[in-house]
Amino acid sequence: MTVVTHRIACFCETTFDAEIPSVADLSHDPEVGELILDGSFMSVTCPACGKRLSPEFPFRLTGVAAVGDIFLVPEADRAAFARGRVDYLNPMPGRVAVGYPELAEKVLIFGLGLDDRVIEIMKYYLLTGPAMAEAPHGGRDVAAFYKGIEADRHVFNIHGMKEGEVGVARLAQEFYSRVASDIDRRLQEEPFCDFCVAPWVSLKRMAGQQE
Ligand SMILES: [Zn+2]
Repeated sequence: MTVVTHRIACFCETTFDAEIPSVADLSHDPEVGELILDGSFMSVTCPACGKRLSPEFPFRLTGVAAVGDIFLVPEADRAAFARGRVDYLNPMPGRVAVGYPELAEKVLIFGLGLDDRVIEIMKYYLLTGPAMAEAPHGGRDVAAFYKGIEADRHVFNIHGMKEGEVGVARLAQEFYSRVASDIDRRLQEEPFCDFCVAPWVSLKRMAGQQE
């Protein structure tokens, strides 16, 4: 694992130096995957007030099954990345994750041997339809996060359907298999071709276009 020293500013107005990972290899260091999944990977503790902070910095995870590298683009760089204005992606990774939650989601998906394009298409079906019209702000703030497999069903958390509540949706493995069986054809079609193109495979690309 390679680390870089960053200056961190806490809410208590203390600033301190912390070593933050910039590159890690999942195939040699599976523990990294567990830390990413439990949310503690980039977190640091303020030496003055003891608060746990979760800063985001550019980070490359190598050795990921099926895609090679996943690159974490910090949430703060979302707009710059969408306009092609970040300069740290060289060499181009197999996948980009914008924001830590998306990184954790990708690690989970590839760790289970699944195809993230299929998962994003399943989210598309979850988040389109009449229910969306009843969501606050016309569904603009609705987002789905993949949470894994329970009793042969794929579990998604859905944020933003009701103020302050997280909904749960479960989709059958059969649904996954059906989407996966004709993924190549779907990837030629709108709207799937708009959000399933590597390296940033994310339904959030669609939300960005509506703004
Ligand atoms: Zn502090």
